[in-house]
Amino acid sequence: MSNLEREPGVITTSGVVRAVDVLEARKAAIGDGTEVRRLLPQRALRTVGAWCFLDHYGPDDVSRGVGMHVPPHPHIGLQTATWLFQGHVLHRDSLGSQALIRPGELNLMTSGRGIVHAEESPRGRPATLHGLQLWIALPDGDRFTDPSFAHHAVLPVVEEAGAIVTVAVGEYRGEQSPAHVFTPLAGYEVNVQAGAAFTLPTRPDFEYAVVAVDGAATVAGAHVEPGLLAHLPPGVTGIELEPEGARGRFFVIGGAPFAERLVMWWNFVARTSEEIAQAREDWAAGRFATVRGYAGDPLPAPALPAGRLCPR
Ligand code: MN
Repeated sequence: MSNLEREPGVITTSGVVRAVDVLEARKAAIGDGTEVRRLLPQRALRTVGAWCFLDHYGPDDVSRGVGMHVPPHPHIGLQTATWLFQGHVLHRDSLGSQALIRPGELNLMTSGRGIVHAEESPRGRPATLHGLQLWIALPDGDRFTDPSFAHHAVLPVVEEAGAIVTVAVGEYRGEQSPAHVFTPLAGYEVNVQAGAAFTLPTRPDFEYAVVAVDGAATVAGAHVEPGLLAHLPPGVTGIELEPEGARGRFFVIGGAPFAERLVMWWNFVARTSEEIAQAREDWAAGRFATVRGYAGDPLPAPALPAGRLCPR
């Protein structure tokens, strides 16, 4: 693992000491040239549960120009989850869905065998945009399911001593998110009081990863800041979250380790190079459905790399 700590943080659970791996994001450009911090996938960490992609972007000033502007593009084999800390994003897809997402809400799109969507900054938007784009790999038995889209404006919020936890995905202290996922998963926004430390209770059969949203923080004894991801392997019953600055928001993803080997390329999650090549050909030939109401051309697929794509 690409552990950046000289002395990795350790946590003790029932006598078992486990290391926290801190991984560095890659800088990546999305459709409109905006730079994002790509925290998943990485060579050293392909998935966290079935979470297989994690971009953290912003806070960015989107008050001028077009702001976020991601033209129509296809997906197969996954769910996309959009989560905002600041700002608004307008989603449109090939099912005819149109949804404005705001902080604290969840957009969950299931591509199943194929879907197309576009995301852009709406008119009259707040000046600042800050959020996460996540993908969830569909398990083999569900990856050719019908495409669907859900906008969850109301999610469980658990207020407790030292923290407020919004349950975007999965279950927390008996509160269940309405979001439908296909494997055991967790996704929480955890807002910890400045100057406090909060121990988030976790399932020992899940692995977890933690994003420090606003600035430097300590996660299970390790230093984390935007651009770094703390990963905790299964076996942990709690994660100590301690903000170092005035704001203490974290986003925590978790899940049962995902055993299936994935082949991921561009916006496709599959199992073989042949499936990827077929999806690219289908997109280039206009065989995916179209997004209505978007002013502009769809994204062209990049060229496939030479040779076989390596399974992740
Ligand atoms: Mn997308």
